[in-house]
Amino acid sequence: MHPELIKLEETFKPSILTKIDESLCAHKAIELWMKRDDQLHPVISGNKWRKLKFILDHALYSGADTIISMGGVYSNHLHALAYVGKVLGLKTIAYVRGDAPAVLTPTLVDLKNWGMELRFISRTEYRQLRHYKGCLDLPGLKPQQYWLPEGGAQALALCGVTELVAEIDIAYDYLCVPCGTGATLAGLISATTDNISLLGFAALKNAGFLNTDVSSLLKQSKNNWQINLDYHFGGFASTTPELLNFISAFETKTTIQLEPVYTGKMMYALYDLISQGHFSAGQRIIAIHTGGLQGDRERSR
Ligand SMILES: *Cc1c(COP(=O)(O)O)cnc(C)c1O
Repeated sequence: MHPELIKLEETFKPSILTKIDESLCAHKAIELWMKRDDQLHPVISGNKWRKLKFILDHALYSGADTIISMGGVYSNHLHALAYVGKVLGLKTIAYVRGDAPAVLTPTLVDLKNWGMELRFISRTEYRQLRHYKGCLDLPGLKPQQYWLPEGGAQALALCGVTELVAEIDIAYDYLCVPCGTGATLAGLISATTDNISLLGFAALKNAGFLNTDVSSLLKQSKNNWQINLDYHFGGFASTTPELLNFISAFETKTTIQLEPVYTGKMMYALYDLISQGHFSAGQRIIAIHTGGLQGDRERSR
């Protein structure tokens, strides 16, 4: 591991396991735990660090001085990348989906303050960029520039997620995670043994493609995982009053903050599945709090 990354990681806090004490769980005789990757770092979003760590190591050791990536105007991935780039002395460039908004989002303000160069592009151009998966694949890339696809979904992203799994020191039956690109889920699948069931919850609508995307990130095929497509609440970043009410109630009861794009939808789904009797008595479920709270700074609480 590059010494600069070791130095940075020394400032991190441990991601602990928190038990969610809920009468619903007691009633169904199951245990629900949360792995608090949201607590890893005050700025860097949990699963984005997991995915970036070994990619950054590769970039630094291959002599890159610039990392170029892509994302939306609330992107947790760009936010983590811009911050880490500043700390490590790497230049960062982002292709941002859509026109520059008249009023910058809190995320974009941070990106600018941390020195990330923002290039706003049309949705069509943005979609085209998704074709470039490898770190040298972006057309026109200059020497010492390193390309990182959307969400940091690249084979090396899985290595950092392996570390998350290794930190879990209790026995469990289910490991649950929200899915955007599915790279975090792929990392969990490759790091767990076959007796563990993995459940991904798609944050977007019509996300059947995630099954193919996750499979293609895996070195060997496995069948202990599933992606639930039913709890998108209308699409990526869409919400409903029901979802927002659930999140507020959860936050009040547990004092654990959620956001409505990923972790809120996953927890809603889990509560729903638990109450439907999807899990058997005696089973222990661990849900991963992937972080992402920075993207939710405009929601009134
Ligand atoms: C990006 C993100 C995800 C999705 O991760 P993928 O690896 O792209 O599936 C989940 N939760 C949060 C908070 C995120 O920021």
